[in-house]
This record gives sequence, structure tokens and C-alpha cells, in this order.
Amino acid sequence: MRDSSNVINNVVNNNLCIGCGVCTAVCPTDSLTIKLNSKGTFEPHLNPDDCDDNGICLKVCPFNPFPEDQIKTEDEIISQISFEKRDQIKKTKFFGHYSSLNVGYAQKHRENGSSGGIASWLLKKLMRENKVDHVIATIEENPNKGKHFKYAILSKEEDIDLSSKTKYYPIEAGDVLKLSLEKKGKYAFIGLPCTIKAIRLAQIENPKTWAHIKFTISIFCGGLKSTFFTEYLSSKLDVPHNEILSPKYRLKNVDSTAGDYSFSCIKNGETSPRILPMKQVGDMWGTGYFKPNACDFCEDYSGELADISLGDAWIPPYSNDGRGHSLIITRTSETKKIFQEGQEMEQLYLEKISEKQAALSQEGNYNHRRIGLSYRLKWAKSENKIVPPKRIKEIVFENPLKAKIFKLRQQIQQESTLIWMEERDNLGKLFETKISKTKKKLFLFTKLEHLFRKKYWIRKIKGK
Ligand SMILES: Cc1cc2nc3c(=O)[nH]c(=O)nc-3n(C[C@H](O)[C@H](O)[C@H](O)COP(=O)(O)OP(=O)(O)OC[C@H]3O[C@@H](n4cnc5c(N)ncnc54)[C@H](O)[C@@H]3O)c2cc1C
Ligand code: SF4
Ligand code: SF4
Repeated sequence: MRDSSNVINNVVNNNLCIGCGVCTAVCPTDSLTIKLNSKGTFEPHLNPDDCDDNGICLKVCPFNPFPEDQIKTEDEIISQISFEKRDQIKKTKFFGHYSSLNVGYAQKHRENGSSGGIASWLLKKLMRENKVDHVIATIEENPNKGKHFKYAILSKEEDIDLSSKTKYYPIEAGDVLKLSLEKKGKYAFIGLPCTIKAIRLAQIENPKTWAHIKFTISIFCGGLKSTFFTEYLSSKLDVPHNEILSPKYRLKNVDSTAGDYSFSCIKNGETSPRILPMKQVGDMWGTGYFKPNACDFCEDYSGELADISLGDAWIPPYSNDGRGHSLIITRTSETKKIFQEGQEMEQLYLEKISEKQAALSQEGNYNHRRIGLSYRLKWAKSENKIVPPKRIKEIVFENPLKAKIFKLRQQIQQESTLIWMEERDNLGKLFETKISKTKKKLFLFTKLEHLFRKKYWIRKIKGK
């Protein structure tokens, strides 16, 4: 049953908020403010005295459980976005509409980028060619402000370098989007699929107000990490949560594979970063450590509503190269041309890839986000939990092994957060002991499930 039409009653109280912040930017009475909560994610707060209950916050929310039919899911929303020359655009169930699929890198930005440095190259090109005046992207924040990163409006080409690199950290966009309404000009916005969805919903709801965002660029997403992820990794370097400076998540090892990257941070009072190879901490993605609940009810991992989507090319031969390759999806003829020009000017190295290869590069993500979602929707329904409408249907016949794995991942998600709340002041000393039982079970069932998979044996025989 729908409660009063604001996001607090319908989204936050149903544990569905991802903390994108867009609701705060559209609120006409400035009744919503966004803050980090005790679980290390952003969440809006309402001043009920100022709220006029107009409900726009809920209409733009990517996790609105009661959207109108014409904006029900990504499929309906996309039909409201005027992508030109639709006839040339293809569609796949894996990552939506596309006009070109490439793997590649930007010659000048690869070294400093997380994957192929394509995001930084693209944002600079858009600015240099006056396609946009400003870029809304993420940069480092002064840690005295209680967080390590923020969104900022960047108006000089050289400032784009400040935004490069992936931050596995929650970053809300509300404040800066509000600011963009005052600062005139054309904008490009780069962010996660859920934030892009919220911006699209704002553009549909109020086209004139949000027409200044001319380009939306989505990074692929396998799930957000709360601030606890950074604290957890830092604790492995003996850096307490209140002494972390300048965390970095994707230090490349150019002599190894793309997946062999490291985390680093500086301990307050020191000058050199301490470095943690991620392979020392094990799988942080498949297990769902420190992931917000909302991500488990999100089925768009590529940013289907964006003009361009950028990710990592997690398939051989590209994944064997530690210097990094981007997976690039353009979704309009205009953005396809931008990449063709980059290639002609030899600023980009690009290789065309097939739909199948692109989908394969995000296979694990797809399995958890779509197949897993079909299980989670069924369980949510049986527990009378409110969730947003999805394209994927509830599973009818559960595979008991898969069901066990998806359940255990949900359990680890919740346990990792609760245990970290107990352990964060103690440098996480008992964290591993406390989580080990569930982690071992997940490991065991995952191994068992692999043994029953045909693909596992084919890959083993082929030596991949
Ligand atoms: C939480 C998260 C999960 C991800 N999961 C996947 C995945 O499963 N599969 C995959 O292929 N790729 C994933 N990515 C994307 C990938 O890590 C790279 O960010 C992407 O390939 C762009 O690389 P690049 O070298 O082109 O970008 P760079 O040139 O290094 O620039 C990075 C750009 O990303 C933006 N950015 C970085 N962190 C954030 C953030 N937290 N919120 C909003 N914007 C941000 C920056 O503003 C910058 O513009 C994820 C990224 C994040 C933040
Ligand atoms: S719009 Fe974003 S921040 Fe606001 S309630 Fe929805 S998910 Fe949370
Ligand atoms: S998984 Fe979905 S909801 Fe979670 S951060 Fe990524 S895009 Fe947003």
C-alpha cells in the first residue's frame, strides 16, 4: 500500500534508497537534505514542516515502488527519451539499446584511468568542442567534511583529470545538481546507472528545467559499496577509519592482469600511501560485502538510459592486460560519431566487439543482477516486502543450489555491515572470525554449483 507520496515513506523506510541524492535536487520546497547514515550510505531526511507533499521526489526516484505505467521500468522510460535515428539502433536483453560496441583505450588517459581512461578522454572532448560548458563528475573531498569524495562541477578541461579513477564509495549528486540549475550552460553528467535513471526521470517530469544536461554517461555497475568498504580495506593496512586519507581503489599492475589491481590510502600524518593488493582480501564483489540492499533490486548494470556507457572489458585477451581496456557502448548516432572521430585522430585505440562478447564481459554481474533478482523478487513477495516493478519475472521453479547462493549473498551483505559497525573502532580485529561461517558456506555452495555447470567443464577442458 502506498503511503504519503514522499521518498521517506515509500523508499527509505522500505530499505530501497541508494542515496543518489536526486530527490533532494528536485524538491521545490527544499525539505529534503541528504546525509551519510550509520550504515555508511547516503539517505535523505525530510523536514515535514516545509514539505507540501507534491510527490516529485518520489517520481524521480529510481527505486519508486509505485511508478506510473509510462515510466514503469527502463523499457518504458527509454521510449520517452528522444534518441535520434532509432532505426539504426539495436537492442539486446543484456544491456539495452546500442549503436556501437567497442573495446579500447585512450592513448593519453589510459595510465591515469581505471579501465581504458575513456571517461576522462570523452569528458575533455565534449568540453573542448563546446558540446558542453561544464561536466558534473566525482572528485576527492577534504576528509574533514566527513567523506572522501563528492560530485563537483568542472568547467576547465584540465580539471577533468581530477575526476579520473573509480571510487568504490557512495557519492550523492543532489547538491551539485541543484547548483547546476543556477549556473548557466550545457552540461555532461557521469555517474552510476541508478543516478542516470533518476536524472532521466527528472528530465521526463520537468523537461525544461533539466534540459541543460545534454549528455549522460554511465559507468557500468556491479553494485555500490558503503563507506565501510574503504574502512575495511584500510584496516587491512593498519589505518583506522578516522585516519584514512586519499583512498584509491584501482591502482594498476601493468605487468599483470587487469583484475590484479590494488587499493591504497595514506595514514594521517604520513606522506606515502600504504598499498593493499586486492587479491589478498579475496572476492569482494561476488560475496556482496558492504553492498546496499537497493542494489539487489536493480537490474540495469550498464546504464541503459545513458547516451554512452563505459565499463571494464573483463574478457580475454583484454583482461590479460594490466594496463586496462574499456568496454564502450554508444547509444546514439551522435555519440557513435564522437568515438569514430577519436579513432580517426588516433587519440583512441578501438576494436569492434560482438553483442555476445560484450555480454560475456559482464557475465557474473548479469547472473547476480537478473537471475538472482528473479529469486529475490519471489522471496520479497512471500515476505510482503515492497519492491519496485522489474522487467525480469519472479522465478517459478527454484534451483536449490542457486537459491542457497543468492540467500547467502544477502546474508553476507547484511552481516558485513552489522559486524563492521561493531568492529570499526577495533581495526576490524574480529571481523573475519565473525563472518567466516557464512563466508565458508557461500564458498562451498558456489563451488558445488560450479561443478553442476556445463560451462565450467567446457572452460576447464579448454584451459580457460
Ligand atoms: C561502484 C562501482 C561499480 C562498478 N562496477 C563495474 C562492473 O561491475 N563492471 C564494469 O565493467 N565496470 C564497473 N565499474 C566501472 C569501472 O570501474 C570504471 O569506472 C569505468 O570502466 C570507467 O573507466 P575509465 O578508465 O573510462 O574512467 P576514468 O577515466 O578513470 O574516469 C572515471 C570516471 O568515473 C566517475 N566515477 C568514478 N567513481 C564514481 C562513483 N562512485 N560514482 C559516480 N561516478 C564515479 C568519475 O567521475 C570519472 O568521470 C564500476 C564503477 C563503480 C564506481
Ligand atoms: S531519489 Fe535517490 S536519494 Fe532519493 S530516495 Fe530515491 S534513491 Fe534515495
Ligand atoms: S547496482 Fe544499481 S542501484 Fe546499486 S549502485 Fe549500481 S546502479 Fe545503483
